[in-house]
Amino acid sequence: MNEGKRLTGLDHIGNREFGFFYWDKMGMMQRHLSFLSVVELQNFLIERAPQHAYVSAAYYHSPSASSMDEKDSYACNFIIDIDADHLPLTCQKDHDTYKCKECGSKGKGAPPARCKCGSTRFDSKNWICDNCLDVAKSETQRVIEDFLIPDFGLSKSDMLVKFSGNRGYHIEVMAEDYKYLEQRERQEIVDYLLGIDLNLDQALFIKKDLTKYGWQRRMHAAFLDLFQNISMEKLGKFSIQKPVKNKLINYSTTFLQGLSKNPSKLKSVSGISQKTWSILSNKLVSEINAKIDAPVSFDIKRLLRLPSSLHGKTGLIAIPVSLDFLDRFDPLKDAIAFKRGEIYLVMRKCPEFRMMDCIYGPYEGGEKVNLPMAAAVFALSKRIAELPKRKQLK
Ligand SMILES: [Zn+2]
Ligand SMILES: [Zn+2]
Repeated sequence: MNEGKRLTGLDHIGNREFGFFYWDKMGMMQRHLSFLSVVELQNFLIERAPQHAYVSAAYYHSPSASSMDEKDSYACNFIIDIDADHLPLTCQKDHDTYKCKECGSKGKGAPPARCKCGSTRFDSKNWICDNCLDVAKSETQRVIEDFLIPDFGLSKSDMLVKFSGNRGYHIEVMAEDYKYLEQRERQEIVDYLLGIDLNLDQALFIKKDLTKYGWQRRMHAAFLDLFQNISMEKLGKFSIQKPVKNKLINYSTTFLQGLSKNPSKLKSVSGISQKTWSILSNKLVSEINAKIDAPVSFDIKRLLRLPSSLHGKTGLIAIPVSLDFLDRFDPLKDAIAFKRGEIYLVMRKCPEFRMMDCIYGPYEGGEKVNLPMAAAVFALSKRIAELPKRKQLK
């Protein structure tokens, strides 16, 4: 293993583009940088101490050229991004807030697509809790175990998982041929994972022996689950008329027999139209598809967080996690960089948070507290605390 790979998980450092955000210049990324060796990169990081550090997924002949054409890409890692922002979270309404940049109206949870004033620009404040972290990790495991291994024939050793340092994970497919996929081929894989343009008719109404693979397996299992526990309440999420729902309930045993013996017979029950099957199928696809941030996988110009660097909004390490350890991986314990010492801080209003085994807060704002280093670094990065001014120390 070369030196660069040992320290940062990166190969061919000299062919990568780097980019950085600094603490004093919010919103402006300095990119098109390159380093010949990991020592050169380390010296830069020590000297400039950026807030966020990024590296290209792509490999270039001239990584520091300012245009993509001149950079001349010859390969790109295939990355799948799973982030709590794209997952249905029950905790979001408890701890995330947004404010419209135009009219200033505020709300809890994720911002709407459009404010009542018409604006689409919001300031959002995202929090991080055990639930968000658990949901993001479970989805990462599901994408690996339910899609990548069975459908793509990948093995665990073909994949590398990296915690993002905030609320998500990256799965990097290490298998060599994925590095040379064209953009449209990457888009095809993304569409498959998202269940876009599936032939739903084929996915469901097929012979039983084909239900072991791919989307047919997933759809078959989803319909079995639906009819095994069918109720008016469970059908509530589907936009179909009540008499049709009654018929689905009354004929559930027939459907279950059809699913186990010959799915193509499902269509034989009259009164359940093709449109109803489509509504059921589309809704189920939206629930069981892979919840990924699609552009990360097909945008081959993207910069991604530098492995082993600190996330500037949490102070946690963007750390590679072995697939065998993922189940036990606890970001709020295993991705902590600073474990010794304490810092005296003045808190701002914020929800409670956990670091290691301790819960801190919630704070109302103005409390002066002595926090262990890990919690203090998190609080300062999250901007929920500040160092006391001189007179407050007395
Ligand atoms: Zn507004
Ligand atoms: Zn949460």
